[in-house]
Amino acid sequence: MSLAESAEERQSKTKRCKLDDESPLMKLPKIELHAHLNGSLSKETINILASMKPDSMDMIRNADDMLLIGENEQKTLEDCFMIFKLIHEVTDRPELIKFATKAVIKDFAKENTKYLELRSTPRSNDYMTMDQYVEAIVSAIRESSLDEPSIVVKFLVSIDRSKGVEMAKEITSLAIKYHKKHKDVVVGMDMSGNMRGSKARDFFDLLSEARAAGMKISIHAAEVHNDEETEDVLKFEPERIGHGTFIPPLKCQNPRLMVLLQEKRIPLEVCLTSNLKGGTVDSFEDHHLGVLISEELPFTICTDDKGVFSTSLTKEYEIAAKTFKLTVEQMWKISYDSIDHIFGEEELKSNLKKYWQHWKEDNPEEFK
Ligand SMILES: [Zn+2]
Repeated sequence: MSLAESAEERQSKTKRCKLDDESPLMKLPKIELHAHLNGSLSKETINILASMKPDSMDMIRNADDMLLIGENEQKTLEDCFMIFKLIHEVTDRPELIKFATKAVIKDFAKENTKYLELRSTPRSNDYMTMDQYVEAIVSAIRESSLDEPSIVVKFLVSIDRSKGVEMAKEITSLAIKYHKKHKDVVVGMDMSGNMRGSKARDFFDLLSEARAAGMKISIHAAEVHNDEETEDVLKFEPERIGHGTFIPPLKCQNPRLMVLLQEKRIPLEVCLTSNLKGGTVDSFEDHHLGVLISEELPFTICTDDKGVFSTSLTKEYEIAAKTFKLTVEQMWKISYDSIDHIFGEEELKSNLKKYWQHWKEDNPEEFK
C-alpha cells in the first residue's frame, strides 16, 4: 500500500460509493479467489477470538477504536500494520486459526459465495509450528464442508516475499507436502508481501517447483508501478495475477505489458476497495477494471482483505455494477466466467457451471 494521498481526499471518494444494505447482488452465486485469511476476519470474529485468549484482554480492550477500516474511514499504513499485528496475536494458536477459518468461511457462505479460495502465509511461534498452522486451516475447511455444505473451499499457501528466499523455500516445501497429502484442499500457491528488497524472479524457481508438483500459482503483481518486475511476472505466466493495477495503459508507460497481458490472457484478481483504500487507484471510475471490461480480458472480482477494509464480496460486485453501469445479467456472466479461473478440479468447474445455469433459469425475476 502506498497511501500517498491524504486521508481526507480518499475518504471523500469512498463516500461516493455508499451502498444499500439490501443488495440484489447478494443473492447472486459468487466466486471469491483472492481472500487473505487474516485480513478477512470480521470485527465480531476478532472480538470472539480475543475473548478466547485469557492473556490478551488488555490488548483487546481498546481494539474497537483501532480495528478495521470503516466504509467512510481511512487509516494510515501504520494503523494497518497495527491491525494486522493485533489479528496475528488473536490467531496465534492452532485452535484460534481453526476457529478463524471457519468464521470466515461462514461469512462468505452467508452472501452466497459458492466457491472460495483462502490464502495465508504459514507462521510459527511458541504455541504452534507452521505444520500445525496449515493443518488447522485444512481441518477447518474439511469440517466446514459438513457445517456449510453450500460452499466449496480451497487453500493457497502464500509466500511472503519480504521474509526472503530462505523462508520461501521452507514455505514451498510445506506447501508441496500438504498438497500431496490433501490434493483436494491445498491447490495452489500465492506470492504476496512488500516487494521492496527482493525481485519476483528470485522466487520463480520455487514457484516452478510447486507447479511441477501439480499446484497452481497466483502472484501479486503490478499493484504498484514496477514495469520490469511486471514483465517478468507476465512472462512467468502464473495461472492468475493479483491486482495488475499498473498493466493497463491508464497507469502504465510501457505498452508492452498490455500486449503481453492480451497475448497471455492471464486472469487478474480485481480488488476495487482494497486498491482505492490503498491509494493505488484515484477513484473507482479510474480503476483498471474498466479497461479489462472494454478489452474483454479475463478477470474475477475479489475482496483481498474484506475485514480490514470493511467490505464484502457483494459490496465489491455492487461497486463494479454501479461504477461501470453493468446489469445483473452482466454481473451473473462475470461471476460465471470466474469459474474458469478457479484452481479447483475440472469436474468441480463443470458442476459449478451447471449450478450457475440452473440458478439463472430458476430466478428469472432477478434479471428483469
Ligand atoms: Zn492480496
